[in-house]
Amino acid sequence: RGELSFENVSFSYDDRPILRNVSFKVAAGKKVAVVGDSGAGKSTLIKLLFRFYDVEQGRILIDGQDIRQLTQDALRRAIAIVPQDTVLFNDSLVENIRYGRPEATDEEVRHAIKLAHLEHFIASLSQGWDTKVGERGLKLSGGEKQRVAIARAILKGSPVLVFDEATSSLDSRSEQAILSALREVAKGHTSLVVAHRLSTIVDADQIVVLSQGEIVEQGNHQSLLAQDGLYAKLWRIQNEQKQ
Ligand code: ADP
Repeated sequence: RGELSFENVSFSYDDRPILRNVSFKVAAGKKVAVVGDSGAGKSTLIKLLFRFYDVEQGRILIDGQDIRQLTQDALRRAIAIVPQDTVLFNDSLVENIRYGRPEATDEEVRHAIKLAHLEHFIASLSQGWDTKVGERGLKLSGGEKQRVAIARAILKGSPVLVFDEATSSLDSRSEQAILSALREVAKGHTSLVVAHRLSTIVDADQIVVLSQGEIVEQGNHQSLLAQDGLYAKLWRIQNEQKQ
């Protein structure tokens, strides 16, 4: 459950071609990362998956079914997203997590809290579970907010998980903590990861490199470094910046 296929997907904004013949598959339970320069078309690809826009040509399939054939409700259930900046409600932490699936049982909520490594955080709170997230209540760091997003995604139980620059706004220490939680969550799910920091996706089963709306390279981290193309260049640039 959860196989995702992009088949010859093309899309334009106002006659300007943005994606051209993009084809790749994420086998059920695997992790595929889409990387590329800014403006390569990564966000547009995610928008097409959510049917924010419809593909112009080609198709996107979940378990062999064209997403245009799914109801909005079925599509919503099939995909969970951990975005770059999670929006929280002025409500308790638990209710914020329950937003992932309002009818979830308390036990399911507790399980999601545990998997997202929020348990320790909640246990150490003197304010208790009902305290609202917000100005005068719980103050969550960027990393903790992302854990709430992860817990929501777990609770939702969708076969397909999308991580859209989910750690881009974090410093490297909270990034590492979130990445290990994400790895846990990804087990048993199909994951599509969009990230510009390549260090976060080296473990992907497959990396798809987009440039100006086209796939220019495809493979795992090692094979792409060996090809010495765009991926290897981006990798070198990012490692130089770190030093
Ligand atoms: P990435 O996520 O890889 O940075 P995007 O998918 O955001 O790339 O953008 C791809 C191209 O589409 C860019 O040239 C961008 O300027 C253009 N674009 C994005 N959104 C719109 C829009 N709503 N209308 C017109 N052009 C857009």
